[in-house]
Amino acid sequence: HYIQVTKPESAVSPYACQRRTTLDNHNKIFTDALEVLAENLELSGNQGPSLAFRKAASVLKSLPAALRRQEETQHLPCLGEHSRAIIEISECGSSSRVEEILNDERYRTMKLFSSVFGVGPKTAENWFCRGLRTFAERMSEPSVRLNRMQTAGFLFYEDISKPVSRTEASALKIIVEEAVICVNPSATVSITGGFRRGKEFGHDVDFIIKTPEAGQEDVILPAVIKRFKSQNILLYSDLQESTFDLRKLPTHCFDAMDHFGKCFLIMKLKHEQEMDARAGKDWKAVRVDLVAPPLERFTYALLGWTGSTLFLRDLRRFARLERGKLLDNHALYDKNTFLPANTEEDIFAHLGLEYIEPWQRNA
Ligand code: ATP
Ligand code: MN
Ligand code: MN
Repeated sequence: HYIQVTKPESAVSPYACQRRTTLDNHNKIFTDALEVLAENLELSGNQGPSLAFRKAASVLKSLPAALRRQEETQHLPCLGEHSRAIIEISECGSSSRVEEILNDERYRTMKLFSSVFGVGPKTAENWFCRGLRTFAERMSEPSVRLNRMQTAGFLFYEDISKPVSRTEASALKIIVEEAVICVNPSATVSITGGFRRGKEFGHDVDFIIKTPEAGQEDVILPAVIKRFKSQNILLYSDLQESTFDLRKLPTHCFDAMDHFGKCFLIMKLKHEQEMDARAGKDWKAVRVDLVAPPLERFTYALLGWTGSTLFLRDLRRFARLERGKLLDNHALYDKNTFLPANTEEDIFAHLGLEYIEPWQRNA
């Protein structure tokens, strides 16, 4: 049991996992500006400095109302002088620094290239340094080799660069569920990621599969992929088999991908109504992620895949720094003892935290 320290009503925690962040953002003008700065730093490989702007934006997203005066930022955590300056300038229209970035050729090109599935900041930078600026220029450069993922990324660019709607996500859930149940009638499928946090649109649809029998999690993904192939609805698949070891302690690394079996797919989703007459195509390509953890780790995987990335980062940091425990997508450890969890409420309780609902995790 932990002693609950009572804070004044106005105090905002520096940890995102102690804030309730809904999609109702009252400070969008400021958070958009801060996120442009963060993105610009990320695209040039400066993850550290970028995080400061991401954290500042996240704090503002959790506020119950719009900031009115500059002084109101004085009592907020994670707002350094650079973030405060941007907020001040954004208040009177737009910040010239933000405008400068949005017009910057390097930023624009890097953003364009890294919007392709399979193209990360390194590849984008490589292409930029070769003098490439557009997709057309990239196509006509024979020395630029594309891997399988990037080839699919370009092939389906038009569709997968469009946001996926909640309606499309629900239609996909029915398809995924049907395949999963056909392979294993006792398995269940849940939507995770941004849609579980209540978002209306996403860049993909994330699903987590729960299998009640030990070992089933390793066979389900290959079988589901096989079924999608036979249904002719799979446009691309990258299956990453589990490298998960039950005995391994959690990692300290925040951005480490987990070791569960997962797959990154591009699926064909049939349009409900009208047919795209020009293309003569009655489907849309959609990015889909599936993850299948072992049952005893399901709740940790669900929490991890629900995000947001910043919320989870702070939850792990809080566990380590405030509670001396280790949390990642696989487990929570107190010293060398694994703490089981049947529900997400259990995990928050293990950490002595008030429960935060998925729709309040949009940090
Ligand atoms: P969007 O609506 O844009 O898809 P999102 O929050 O769903 O936003 P995703 O990139 O789909 O973003 O990621 C969903 C969650 O899954 C995030 O919390 C992320 O940390 C986690 N995640 C994504 N890819 C992996 C991976 N390879 N290994 C472990 N966790 C991952
Ligand atoms: Mn997602
Ligand atoms: Mn995803």
